[in-house]
Amino acid sequence: MTPFTFNPGPRLVSGEGSAARLAEHLPAGPCLFVTDRDVVALGLTDACRASLSEVVLFDAVEADPSKETLLAAVEAGRAAGVTSVVGFGGGSPMDVAKLAAYLLGSGDDLDSIWGVGLATGQRLPLALVPTTAGTGSEATPVAVITCEGGEKRGVNSPALVADWAALDASLTVGMPRLLTAATGIDAIVHAVEAFTSARLKNPLSDMYAVEALKLLSANLLTACNDPTNITARSAMLLGAHLAGLAFANAPVAGVHALAYPLGGLHHLPHGLSNALMLRHVLQHNSDAARGDYAILAQVLEPACAGQGSQAQCALLIDRLDQLVVASGLSPKLRDHGIEQADIPTLARAAMKQQRLLVNNPCPIDEEDARRLYEAAW
Ligand SMILES: [Zn+2]
Repeated sequence: MTPFTFNPGPRLVSGEGSAARLAEHLPAGPCLFVTDRDVVALGLTDACRASLSEVVLFDAVEADPSKETLLAAVEAGRAAGVTSVVGFGGGSPMDVAKLAAYLLGSGDDLDSIWGVGLATGQRLPLALVPTTAGTGSEATPVAVITCEGGEKRGVNSPALVADWAALDASLTVGMPRLLTAATGIDAIVHAVEAFTSARLKNPLSDMYAVEALKLLSANLLTACNDPTNITARSAMLLGAHLAGLAFANAPVAGVHALAYPLGGLHHLPHGLSNALMLRHVLQHNSDAARGDYAILAQVLEPACAGQGSQAQCALLIDRLDQLVVASGLSPKLRDHGIEQADIPTLARAAMKQQRLLVNNPCPIDEEDARRLYEAAW
């Protein structure tokens, strides 16, 4: 067997009310509570905040959070002398919370830790609570921030893995349909890209990816069509977490690399951006990743086991595409305000995502990227 390393995720509490139980695991003293205004307005944070002795609320996190927002959260925490950090919401508040906990605890400068493995200091105690079933950010050592010119920059370090995460599906039942759809497809892409990750794929990440794909593909449409179905919501939240553990160890690749410029330059939501590029990047990869895609096709449809790998590969791509459409997402870039004239800029921006492109089963150059955006348009 090829040698590998595997970093486990945070310790978990799960079930209804589990977010409020996190207080038992955090130190006494003021806690920087990082979230966004929508999550607060929906009342989702009430029980968790009430369980903490002293809360310093930072609710100004926006979608695709900026460096300024992160530094403002750090400043709020520093001014109040916080002793712990909670990140509560979708991927954006959780990513800001991870980096705020690290910068407050280590005293490091943000510009010295971009990239892989450079954040080696000590962060503050950190707990994360996802309210969408998608990003898996509560499971991963990665945080992504939008910098000058819309460029997404990431910090990837074991120091960012939270101490605790709470998986409470009751927090996700109010998610609007299209958010359920987009975040669910994002989680599916995490599972698929982890399973085909070129450099760091390993037996444990494979196991998590396969189980994640099973849970997510079997429950996405139920969660969309019957939003209060807590069984489907729980399966989606667990599936997203397992996919997070998979890609935390076997990183995502081409779909994400081409999706990021859609968020950075055009402010399309992360999950939607991935859904738009999914079919086209998988088709581009289908020769290089055929064996792996054939295995995943059998996860979606065990009855296809006897078919050849080419047919299985085509089946996987079709089934995932059908899930995107059936979930209610419009699958074309032009449906989301992207002009054909934007494509050269998008392709150039995608080339900046080398940290992701190196994980793709086959190369994607700027000309490929242009062709894939054209196909998605
Ligand atoms: Zn993603």
